[in-house]
Amino acid sequence: KISRADFMQALANDLKPAFGVSAEDFELYIRNGILLWSQTIQDVLEEGHLRINQTIKSEMTPLVTILIEGKPNSGKTALAAKIAMESGFPFLKFCSPQSMISYSETAKSEAIKKVFSDAYRSELSCVVVDEIESLLDYAPIGPRFSNFVLQTLKLLFKKLPPRGRKLLLIATTSEKEVIKEMGLMQSFSKVIHVPNVSRGSEVLQVLEQLDCFSKKEYDQLSKQLDNKGLSIGIKSLLDVVELSKQATDVYRTAKFVSVLEEIAGLHDC
Ligand code: ATP
Ligand code: MG
Repeated sequence: KISRADFMQALANDLKPAFGVSAEDFELYIRNGILLWSQTIQDVLEEGHLRINQTIKSEMTPLVTILIEGKPNSGKTALAAKIAMESGFPFLKFCSPQSMISYSETAKSEAIKKVFSDAYRSELSCVVVDEIESLLDYAPIGPRFSNFVLQTLKLLFKKLPPRGRKLLLIATTSEKEVIKEMGLMQSFSKVIHVPNVSRGSEVLQVLEQLDCFSKKEYDQLSKQLDNKGLSIGIKSLLDVVELSKQATDVYRTAKFVSVLEEIAGLHDC
């Protein structure tokens, strides 16, 4: 006979939360891995670990909230997913605007609320709310956004999980100033900045870790990029690498450098 105790035991330990997401799904957001191209990236991951531990250990803060902000294509989503995965928490959920395309304001609010109420059922949960400005339908012209969804997020980002439950919330945005103006900034206990790749030496770090050019090509690029400055998000830089790979061998490095000049403002320091 199954007793209530057995049932509760199974509920707590054996059943996967219905809306929990497996690690493989999170890996989709980290398709090209996390390259350690600067100490800052290590620092971001380190801060993530600190906050994971805080969520697990602290009695006083059952809700830990971090905002990962940076320019478009800087790698915010991948870093948020990486930290969430490294938490190893039994409930992981990714809330992305792509999964809510064409939802009405109310449907969107309900979907987000549901993610949180599912999270509260697990002892330890991590919820990623990706691109908050897109969830809010923010448009710079006007400017316009959904106040309805904003109020929902504000409440959810403040709400403490029930007794004995802990939640790590990781949000991302490319619009820090907008988030500030909307009064959402106070919701976060920590804001982590993700920088763009901004030096030639950092580009070389990326190329070295990707191992995508031959030794000779790498040496050539090393001469051309050393002591140069630029500004490009890691996601765009990986695109440029892919593009250059398609060029004929002799032109590959020239292509790489010329695209960086064109789109990343590669210049002498
Ligand atoms: P968007 O502004 O469009 O939302 P994003 O800032 O969220 O872009 P991602 O979607 O996270 O950028 O893309 C980053 C890509 O770069 C991923 O494919 C990821 O695997 C790869 N990547 C490699 N190294 C890093 C790193 N150090 N940090 C973040 N992403 C990295
Ligand atoms: Mg993103």
